[in-house]
Order: sequence, then structure tokens, then C-alpha cells
Amino acid sequence: MGAFELMDGEFEQVVYNHDPASGLKAIIAIHSTALGPALGGTRFYPYGSEEEALTDVLRLARGMSYKAAAAGLDLGGGKAVIIGDPKRIKSEALLRAHGRFVESLGGRYITAEDVGTYTGDMDVVARETSYVTGLSEAHGGAGDPSIMTAFGVFTGMHAVAEELWKDHSLEGRHVVVQGVGKVGHELCRLLSGAGVRLTVADVDVDHVATAVKEFSAETVEPDKVHATECDILAPCALGAIVNDDTLPELKCAAIAGSANNVLARSEHGYALRQLGVLYAPDYVINSGGLINVADELRGYSHERARARTEGIYGALRSIFHRATEEGIPTSEAADRVATDRMREVSRLRLLRVLPGVNRER
Ligand code: NAD
Repeated sequence: MGAFELMDGEFEQVVYNHDPASGLKAIIAIHSTALGPALGGTRFYPYGSEEEALTDVLRLARGMSYKAAAAGLDLGGGKAVIIGDPKRIKSEALLRAHGRFVESLGGRYITAEDVGTYTGDMDVVARETSYVTGLSEAHGGAGDPSIMTAFGVFTGMHAVAEELWKDHSLEGRHVVVQGVGKVGHELCRLLSGAGVRLTVADVDVDHVATAVKEFSAETVEPDKVHATECDILAPCALGAIVNDDTLPELKCAAIAGSANNVLARSEHGYALRQLGVLYAPDYVINSGGLINVADELRGYSHERARARTEGIYGALRSIFHRATEEGIPTSEAADRVATDRMREVSRLRLLRVLPGVNRER
């Protein structure tokens, strides 16, 4: 399929860059700047083909528009991908070439870290462009955003508890955490402090051992995690834990975790609703990391980022309310909240711009 067909009239801009000297082959997709400059990380991945890379960057850029809109940020959605194996080809020259590529868009796109890129890489990118965030603390940034992501998920779980059990406390509840990496581990720490019974699963046995030691967590095999009876299942590993195979085996009252793309397909939101499993939409409950890197753009304040992340509680409460009112899945309600905001705010911006346009006539 060609690029224009894949863009389907929905994206503002897609730009390619090839720097043979450093080996950089990158694509930046800007989905929307309706709410502000398009913010989204740079994914560095050995894609099998250019079409695969383009499909991924478009999907991810669209997702960022929705995430920023639902989080109430004045940011649009975009994403960058670098094609290649970061372990083999990542270099200072390549990252700086990518920085110049980002700079060439004049601030319409702001980059950050994603799969295959890290805080230290953004410090290098920042030597060529100011349109970058997610820098290390030594370079004036906020450091690893995972801590704020975990705090956001923890906050969102209280909204889930309020919705299901009319009490926002999590004390005595049983939470199963799939993936105890950066976010999952910090989430376990917060949950353990709140008196939650924990079960963890991870393909990395060291990560499991640490969680058992630190939080007295029980364990379950990674392939059984979705079928474990619990109050809340927290996917903090990879996406698509809700799929055709796992759906009939779910034994949780709610799903609320940090992973992106928890639903393999959007129809699975309807299936969860039918099963009576409350789903906290992924891009809403995991937006703490985005809120954190977005705050850096204003000169980072931990207190401000944390206060904004606490807003995930209210955001989820209103999404649950809208889902009930309109008889739709929570995933669909989140999409409606995001698209409504993009439409309404861009309309207001247009109103602000028009008088200036008229004066020039
Ligand atoms: P991470 O790589 O530090 O942790 C992921 C953990 O999942 C690892 O311990 C890994 O061994 C484990 N894992 C992988 N496959 C598994 C499987 N099949 N079963 C069980 N465990 C498995 O990543 P992270 O930064 O903690 O992010 C976790 C998830 O949250 C990812 O999906 C990420 O995209 C998403 N997310 C992260 C952030 C952030 O700020 N880090 C923000 C938004 C979304």
C-alpha cells in the first residue's frame, strides 16, 4: 500500500529523512497539531520493511494525539521511527542527524524517548535541536518518566475501585501485575504500601525474585497471568493481553495497567463490557509519563507534573460515567472524549486566528 493510502487523509504531515553517512533512515509522522505541537517519542527498531515502519509510525502518532487530548494537554500527536537495530547502528552521529531532522520541522514535532531510545540518547539529540524532551536530570530534564507513569496507574486504580466498589481504597484488594520492569516494579511498591495483596508474573526471573523479596508478592507463570482470579489485572509488559484467546479465560473484575494497546482489536472493548470487566483505557491511565515529559517543556516542576497526573482519577471517573450514560465501552468513551476535545479546542483556536486574518484583508 502507498503512503497516501495509508495516511488516509487523516495525517497532517509525514516526512522521510536519509543520512547515508550516519546510516539514519527515519520517518516522522505528525497526526495532529490541533491542540499544540505534536509530541511523541522516537522508536528505534529493526523494521522488516519501509511499509511496516510507516504503518507503525502512523498508528503511534495517532495514539499520541488521543493520549495528549485525553490528558488535557495543549499538545498534538506525532511520532518518529528510526529503521534499524539500535544495538548495531546507534551512534552519536546518527542521533545528531536525527536531531537535525527534528529541528527541520521548526517545532511542529517534539521528540522524546521510546522503545530503543533512552534518556541519554535524547541528551545527544538535544545538541542539534531544542524540540526534544525526556532529557536526563544532568541535562536539565526530569529523568526516567516510568515513576510518574506508575503513579498515574496507581491513581487510576483508585478510580476503578470507586467505580466498582464505591470506595476508592485499594486496601485488601488483590492485584495481579504482568511485567515487573520499570513501571510494574514501582507500581508494586505503591500498591504494597496501600495494603494490596500482590501477584506478579514476568519472563525475567530476576525481576520476579526482586518483587517477591521486596513486596512478599505471590507469583504466577507468565502464560497464566490473564486467567488468575483477582480484583484488578495490571498489564505492565507488552500490549494485546486482551485478545480472542484470553477473553474467555479472564477472571478479573477490572483491567488497569501501563501497557499500550492492551486490546488486540477495538472490538475487544465491547467484549469486555459484555463480560462485565471494567477496562481503564490504556492511553488514559498510562499518561503520567507523557504528562511528565510534557512538563519539562515548561521547566520541570515535579509537584506540577504530579498534580496533573492525579487528574487521571477524574479523567477516568468521567470516562466511566460517559460509558454508562451512552451505553458504550470505556475504550469508546475515551476516544470520544479525546476527539471531542481536539475538535472543540481547534475550533476555538480558529476563532482566535480569524480576527487577525480579517485585519490583514
Ligand atoms: P520494561 O521493559 O522496563 O518492563 C517490561 C517488563 O515486562 C520486563 O520486566 C519484561 O521482562 C516483562 N515482560 C516482557 N514480556 C512479558 C510477558 N510475556 N509476560 C510477562 N512479563 C513480560 O518497560 P516499562 O517501561 O516498565 O513499560 C511497561 C509497559 O508500559 C510497556 O508496554 C510500555 O510501552 C508501557 N508504558 C511505559 C511508560 C513508561 O513511562 N515507561 C509510559 C507509558 C506506557
